[in-house]
Amino acid sequence: MLMPEQVERRRLLGLVSEQVDGFFGRLDGLPVAPDVTADEIRAHLAGYDFEQPLAADAALADALTMLERWSTHNAHPRYFGLFNPTPSFMGVLADTLTAAVNSQLATWSASPAGIELERHLVRYVTGLAGLDVELAGGSFTTGGAEANQTATLVALTRTFPTYGDAGLRSLPGQPVFYASAESHLAWLKIAHACGLGRDALRLTSVDDELRMDVEALREQIAADRAAGALPFMVAATAGTTSAGVLDPLPEIAELCRVEDVHLHVDAAWAGAALLSERLRPVLVGIERADSVTIDAHKWLSVPMGAGMFLCRENAWLAETFRVATAYMPPTPEGIADPYVHSIQWSRRLIGLKLFLTLAVAGREGYAAVIEEQARLGDALRTKLIAAGWRVVNATPLPVVCFQHPALSPGAHGALVEELQRRGRAWISATRLRGEPALRACITSYLTMQADLDILLEELALALAV
Ligand SMILES: *Cc1c(COP(=O)(O)O)cnc(C)c1O
Repeated sequence: MLMPEQVERRRLLGLVSEQVDGFFGRLDGLPVAPDVTADEIRAHLAGYDFEQPLAADAALADALTMLERWSTHNAHPRYFGLFNPTPSFMGVLADTLTAAVNSQLATWSASPAGIELERHLVRYVTGLAGLDVELAGGSFTTGGAEANQTATLVALTRTFPTYGDAGLRSLPGQPVFYASAESHLAWLKIAHACGLGRDALRLTSVDDELRMDVEALREQIAADRAAGALPFMVAATAGTTSAGVLDPLPEIAELCRVEDVHLHVDAAWAGAALLSERLRPVLVGIERADSVTIDAHKWLSVPMGAGMFLCRENAWLAETFRVATAYMPPTPEGIADPYVHSIQWSRRLIGLKLFLTLAVAGREGYAAVIEEQARLGDALRTKLIAAGWRVVNATPLPVVCFQHPALSPGAHGALVEELQRRGRAWISATRLRGEPALRACITSYLTMQADLDILLEELALALAV
């Protein structure tokens, strides 16, 4: 039942390839966001009681129809959204191959190809980040949140020798860590999940440009120490979610050295800049990190979920995730089995989509795509200013936050709703310095100048409502 004969397999693969190709062909004309209620979708799904088997053709056609009609299309060239990319085509093909072979990446013996291929990529990216490749370790993760959680566990483990076995209760004080008020708030869930408690996260204030304020950080660490707390990690953000701003990594790295705390650099989105010689300097200081998060499913444009965790010493991962069982295959000499170096146990091959995209585009080809998106960000800023908007964030990267003198603070949400309802473009709302702002990010490699002009038209129309 679960594996048709070859003739039928070929027919269905052909059908899916037509569906996928048709989707990419129609994409530009689709509404970027759906107009649908949960009740409508639930009424449709009520037709699936799974008692009568469906023909594969009908099931596939309905699945694509549902996804196409009832999704916000972050693959769309005018999705100016939340770091969700148009997936690279090689990435789409890679995920198909990955699913077909379905290799288990827990142990080397079960997937020598997959594990070596991911190791090769981790070493490549580690080298681009400027860490010592021979000493460093890392793994592919489901995304940035898992990578940041890994960082927290590693930092706790290497800072507090009793933490791993005796737990937080064995420590003489409350461990605390620091991220800027503009950081990605998965940190709160991580503090909760690690048993630190959400109060252990210190949200450090930011300067006028929304960068972590290093003086405030220094004072906060001193105050925490004076109160008996145990600072163990600073998580600097390279590319904040709201405003695409980069915390001052060299100054933070220096402070971490003096204070002897783990430096994590969360470059989930902006880490892609490592591929570009022109943009790489914005990440200067990353080479001093103890650990780094980079999401391949953001600016590297591979299908979700693909994050990466990198750290200065592979031994930290081995210490954090150690376990021995009778039933797992033995680890060959010189191999770092993923199940004893990461949070996941059974794991899919995640890296193939990055591997194939990089292999086929080449580093320079990939860099050219990223650089073009950065240029479009500059072009969008220029167009917005020319049209009377005020740009309220400062970053060399393609996230633009803006306000309009004619738009009252309370009206930003309604403008975004109206623009999304019209369906020709998609932007979001955020808050900066306590004030509402609109936010547009060039997140699709399909976006062109003409798409920016359509966005400007749509903004003018929504503003007039
Ligand atoms: C997106 C993002 C995260 C969370 O990553 P996921 O891939 O969504 O789990 C963490 N930090 C930053 C800076 C991000 O942009």
